[in-house]
Amino acid sequence: RPRVLSGIQPTADSFHLGNYLGAVRNWVAMQETADAFYCVVDLHAITMGHDPVALRNRTRLSVAQLLALGLDPERCTLFVQSHVPEHAQLAWVLSCITGFGEAGRMVQFKDKSAKQGSDTTSVGLFTYPILQAADILLYQADAVPVGEDQRQHLELTRDLAQRFNTRFGQTFTVPAAYIVRDTAKITDLQEPTSKMSKSASSPNGILELLEEPARSAKKIKSAVTDTGREILYDEENKPGISNLLTMYAALTQRTIDELLEEYDGRGYGDLKKDLAEVFVEFVKPVQERTRTYLEDPGYLDKVLAVGADKARAVSAVTLANAYQHLGFLSPA
Ligand code: ATP
Ligand code: MG
Repeated sequence: RPRVLSGIQPTADSFHLGNYLGAVRNWVAMQETADAFYCVVDLHAITMGHDPVALRNRTRLSVAQLLALGLDPERCTLFVQSHVPEHAQLAWVLSCITGFGEAGRMVQFKDKSAKQGSDTTSVGLFTYPILQAADILLYQADAVPVGEDQRQHLELTRDLAQRFNTRFGQTFTVPAAYIVRDTAKITDLQEPTSKMSKSASSPNGILELLEEPARSAKKIKSAVTDTGREILYDEENKPGISNLLTMYAALTQRTIDELLEEYDGRGYGDLKKDLAEVFVEFVKPVQERTRTYLEDPGYLDKVLAVGADKARAVSAVTLANAYQHLGFLSPA
């Protein structure tokens, strides 16, 4: 079985539909076909400034949502990044083989730092992709299921793995990005050319899995659509409608072509109304299951303790091997 690893940040109370369709949905599927490791990456979530009480809460909420969306701790390893110290340890090593200019070319850093002043932008935000590389390489992952926005970080991870292997000897599997094209970039409802984002989207631009479903329905109905009235799939000229079609198709397991046929001659309003219904039906049971998991923090803790043990069993071996190759003296 191939090894798979991916992670999600506890940077908001709720995941959004892009997180689910672009990432978590594929994680659920890959539990059946791969040896899967999934983590809530709390170390990444402190790179932009955070509130400690909210972070602890959001980490639990993230775990509960992952279980509610279908991750099964019997079928995958589910853990919290900070429970496994090897992530931070390998990140240091990898930072020493990453070029400053190379790290400076990461688009996510440019985007996220542009929204802050340079004195409030942390060095951690700059080195974030290196920590992400460590997350992946520690588990010898063959594939990393992520959204389109992570493609560049995956390229860096591959470069670092190859560089380390060439300089110090074969240590890391070189991972491939696993990006499912159709749902790799769900866009903001109000700004349909930008990706939907936990930290950057405006409240009306984001469909949160845990918000009041009636509120989501309203947001869908007031989503920015395009000029013209025909329902067509055209990412370039009709990004708003195309995004709604993408979400609709993914949530109903239908093809865009089937939807285009069904909505031929009908208006944007019909499509929005129906998508709102489909979304509400999707999130209701997810919300209920999330609540149930949150009511049992003892169970969540147990899942995470088992997950951390399983994760450490793999990551400690990789780190020791990397240290060995680097020439660090083994402790007696
Ligand atoms: P933040 O704004 O804090 O970075 P985020 O919404 O980008 O939050 P992450 O936790 O960074 O979410 O990413 C988790 C996973 O969800 C990643 O695999 C990422 O590629 C994927 N993802 C995030 N946004 C989208 C989106 N709009 N469409 C598809 N996939 C997405
Ligand atoms: Mg992100």
